[in-house]
Formats: sequence, C-alpha cells, structure tokens
Amino acid sequence: MQLTADDEEFRHRVRQWLAENLTGRFAELRGAGGPGREHEAQAERLAWNRHLAAAGWTCLGWPAEYGGRDATLAQQVIFHEEYARSGGPGRVGYLGEELLGPTLIAFGTPEQRQRFLPPIAAVRELWCQGFSEPGAGSDLAAVATTATLDGDQWVITGQKVWTSLAHVADWCFVLARTLPGSRRGGGLSYLLVPMRQPAVTVRPIRQLTGTAEFNEVFFDGARTERGLVVGAVGDGWRIARATLAIERGVATLGQQVMFRRELDSLVDVASRTPARTDPVLRGKLARAWIGLEVMRAYAQAMVADTAAADTAAAGTGAGAAGAGAAGAEASVMKLLWSRWHQGLGELAMEVLGAPSMIARGAPYDLDDWQRLYLFGRADTIYGGSDEIQRNIIAERALGLPRQARP
Ligand SMILES: Cc1cc2nc3c(=O)[nH]c(=O)nc-3n(C[C@H](O)[C@H](O)[C@H](O)COP(=O)(O)OP(=O)(O)OC[C@H]3O[C@@H](n4cnc5c(N)ncnc54)[C@H](O)[C@@H]3O)c2cc1C
Repeated sequence: MQLTADDEEFRHRVRQWLAENLTGRFAELRGAGGPGREHEAQAERLAWNRHLAAAGWTCLGWPAEYGGRDATLAQQVIFHEEYARSGGPGRVGYLGEELLGPTLIAFGTPEQRQRFLPPIAAVRELWCQGFSEPGAGSDLAAVATTATLDGDQWVITGQKVWTSLAHVADWCFVLARTLPGSRRGGGLSYLLVPMRQPAVTVRPIRQLTGTAEFNEVFFDGARTERGLVVGAVGDGWRIARATLAIERGVATLGQQVMFRRELDSLVDVASRTPARTDPVLRGKLARAWIGLEVMRAYAQAMVADTAAADTAAAGTGAGAAGAGAAGAEASVMKLLWSRWHQGLGELAMEVLGAPSMIARGAPYDLDDWQRLYLFGRADTIYGGSDEIQRNIIAERALGLPRQARP
C-alpha cells in the first residue's frame, strides 16, 4: 500500500495525540486488556475508550454522519499500527465497532443505522455476538435458538455459548431460527436483542487463564422489537456470513505491530537467559522472526487488494462489506497468525524453561508469558478454527470438491 504525504501527516497526528493523551490517569492502562486480559481495568478502559471517541478516534472508516470520520483504509491501518505501537489498552467496544457496525452499514435500514451506530462510536452501548451454541459452532447453520413473533415483538428462546463480553454487553446480535421447522441456513434471522432484561441470563465460563471473558447466555422468552431484524426475515444466514468475513479480514489490522512487540520482548528475555546460546532456541526465534515477516508481507498485500476492491465498489454501497476481504485470502491470513501466535506462546515457555511451569503469585496469578501460552490455545479456534480455514482454502483456492455438509 502506497502512503501519501497526507497519510504520513495523519500518522504524525495520531502518534502525537496518543503520546499526549495516554498520560495521567490513563498512563497505567498501557498494555492492559485485550485477548486473555479482558478482566483488567474494565472501568478505566471504558473511560479511556470514551475519551478516544470524544476525540474522533473510534470507528474511523465509518461515515461521519454515524460518528465515524470517513477515514481511508490506509488511515485506518495507520491508526491501528500507531495505537498498537503506543501500547494502547485493549478496546472494550470492538465487537460493536468491528463486527456489528460494518454489518449494519452494509445491510441495516437507515433507522437501524441511526439508532445503533452513534452509540457504538461513542462507546455508550457495548455489544456481544450471539452466534455459537452448544450444537452449532463450526457448523453454525445448525443454530437451534428460536424467535417467534408475538404482536410487535420477537420472543427468543435458546442457549448461546462462548459469548465474549456478554457480561458487560448492553445488546447482542443474535442468529435465531424464525421459520419453524426450517433447517440449515434457510429460516434464520439476524436479530438485535437487548441484554438487560430478566429473560436473559449470563453465566461466565472460567478459562484456562483463570479468568472468564466469555459466557453462556440463556434466552428464556427474551423480547426485542419486531423491526430489529438486520436484512430480511429469513435472510440471517447471508448476513451472518458477511459478519464472519469481516471478523476474518480487516479487523485484524493492528495485530502485526502487537506481535512485533511480543516477539521483541521475547528476544529480550532470551538474551538474558541461557536460551541466548542454545542453538535450537536461537533457530526457533529466527524462524519466529521470519514467520512474522511473511505475515506482514501477506497482510500488506491483502490490505492493498481490499483497498483496490473498495475503490472499485465505491458508489455501489458495498464499501463496508467489501472491507471483509472474504474468501481464501482471509483464511490464509487467519491460519498464518493463529499458528504463529500460538507458537510464540509455546516458544516463550521453552525460552523460560522449567520456571515457566510455576505461577509465581498466589493463588493463580499468571505472568504475561504464561497467559499468552494458555490463551493461545484459543487462537486456532475463535474466528473460525484452523480446520475450517483449511477447508475454505481447499474449496475456494484449490478448487477441490466441496466437503460433504451435515
Ligand atoms: C476465546 C473465544 C471467544 C469466542 N467468542 C465468541 C463470541 O463472542 N460469539 C460467538 O458466537 N462465538 C464465540 N466463540 C466460539 C467460536 O466461534 C467457536 O468456538 C468456533 O466456531 C468453533 O466451534 P465449536 O467450539 O463449537 O467447535 P466444533 O465446531 O465442535 O469443532 C470441534 C473441532 O472439530 C473441528 N471441526 C469441526 N468441523 C469440522 C469440519 N467440517 N472439518 C474438519 N474439522 C472440523 C474443529 O476445527 C475443532 O477442532 C469464541 C470462541 C473462543 C475460543
């Protein structure tokens, strides 16, 4: 991606703003939050996110009328890079900002956009994603949660699982079966459901890391307004697939810089331990560096392709959905980063040696490397598991026959 003088000036402004604002009461938030660490400084991170929003640093690519700043793709990449470089804390509203927002821009009604996008941009309303169920994960079309009409309201009944941040969310975008007796993708609808009502129960699930950032969510006759369906009733499968394409694509833009910081930090640790002269570990560290370079080159090419596709789609209204970089490329990217990042956690344990097996604080207080290693198990599962990505590559890039569907 070619950066212009305007882009460089934009980078300078972002860097300067972050340097001036990640100070005072926000200074200690550097590095807090993010995957595996969502429990950290929640109230303070919310305040920081609202501070970002007030200065126009959320939802950069959205139209200004909905609280965005009409930023180009290059500017969005720059912002994510600078944010990660500054050590900015994990964003609390990312499910609304990165998944639901672009979906509403592409498929929502004007009323839905007007109602929901500004509060996401201002970080006044937080969202969670209610897709997975105990019997529907990789095979998402098997969703069994139902929604039936009762006058002007939908009544939702069923169970979701692995619902990240449901315990802090105000709203949930829910995939539910609205056509009784339907099977697979047909008969599903994409509903917007308020979380704060008695018929919604959220039960946290404790993870390997000792913390609970995802949940079981039970809808026992929960209600939402009739008009809060994204797309047509019965067209939820198509809309959900668009959300998933966004999840696998451009939403991972800032990662490279964070990964670079993690690798640099591990090399620094290695240089102060016996690992620095161990030929096997030195080789593995070098391979991690090469892996990151490959990932970076691939990500840059993918972003350039997405920018070209968005330019071609300009004026067709397909911009936000186009940012999903759907198809085999997004799957290759997911595979590259998930395996690399999980491998980095494993390598960290090797570099640290036997002490890595002991939690130093009581009773289960993990250090950053132990948390990286344990949470890394999730990298190859969420956002579509590695096996599913390989199936997509086999079918879309290699043209192999479609795998038999259940
Ligand atoms: C940290 C984390 C956060 C998450 N957050 C959310 C969230 O906010 N909202 C939400 O809706 N979901 C969320 N999920 C759920 C996630 O999307 C699912 O875990 C994922 O889609 C896999 O589904 P599953 O867990 O049911 O596993 P399954 O689909 O049961 O898969 C089990 C194993 O079988 C393999 N497998 C399945 N099908 C095939 C096939 N056809 N070919 C080859 N192998 C196959 C899988 O790769 C996997 O290894 C989260 C998951 C994690 C780990």
